[in-house]
Amino acid sequence: CGIFAYLNYHVPKTRRDILEILIKGLRRLEYRGYDSAGVGIDGGNNKEWESNAKSIQLIKQRGKVKVLDEEVNKQQDLDLDIEFDVHLGIAHTRWATHGEPSPVNSHPHRSDKNNEFIVIHNGIITNYKDLKKFLESKGYEFESETDTESIAKLVKYMYDNRENDDISFATLVERVTQQLEGAFALVFKSVHYPGEAVGTRRGSPLLMGVRSDHKLSADHIPVLYRCSIIALIHILFTCMSICLCLCFYYVAYSAVIEHTNRVIFLEDDDVAAVSEGRLSIHRIKRTVGDYPARAIQTLQ
Ligand code: GLU
Repeated sequence: CGIFAYLNYHVPKTRRDILEILIKGLRRLEYRGYDSAGVGIDGGNNKEWESNAKSIQLIKQRGKVKVLDEEVNKQQDLDLDIEFDVHLGIAHTRWATHGEPSPVNSHPHRSDKNNEFIVIHNGIITNYKDLKKFLESKGYEFESETDTESIAKLVKYMYDNRENDDISFATLVERVTQQLEGAFALVFKSVHYPGEAVGTRRGSPLLMGVRSDHKLSADHIPVLYRCSIIALIHILFTCMSICLCLCFYYVAYSAVIEHTNRVIFLEDDDVAAVSEGRLSIHRIKRTVGDYPARAIQTLQ
């Protein structure tokens, strides 16, 4: 019941570094209690980043982060020394609400057997049965018992039915978010959008840590250039009180703080995307004039 994502943009990292960062991020969230854990990273062992980006590898385990860590180290087909100039890794600890704790029910969930889109989710999708029924009627096959899997399939449905080839990842996620009911914080990764991260939330907190080698010119966004690192963390519980929420934020800081002390708190229905090193945040269902300023806050 914590999510952590790490994007390095033109800051070379080995796969070993990336996995260490992801596992460490999850460890910071461990105090919450959870039943399984998983990561999604770029697969392949070719030195060419282009070809690595075409596949996604999932490693998921029931149990503690320690068990996941052991599983990561057992992956003999993964070259840990391969270096990625640009890479998004996503990681999750699950507290099951739909479907028993098991590897297949663990996150990240995938759109299909080729892992074209993967997603991590905290919260509950209350209309997942309707979504699942619709998607099954369109031929999408489900493998888990979770509510989350319908999100992974839905984003692929939006992609498969896109009206033009240059549709952005953020637009796909906006369309998905508009169909969801319930409480959620989500982060998506896709082979179709290598090196891009999209996160969104409703009713559950999600914060982003931003590190940039370029001067950030204004206190409110909409676009930051060259975000070399973005860490997205979510700590859930839909019905927690504000006070509890702040307390959880405090713990989320501890996972982000080792990367940056500049954070942005997403608001309900914000869709935050990093594409080619640029961060943009849009709020769905509102007009441009309604966008509030979002401050980058500096943690002490
Ligand atoms: N409802 C999702 C599941 O059961 C997410 C649970 C969580 O927040 O960890 O997989």
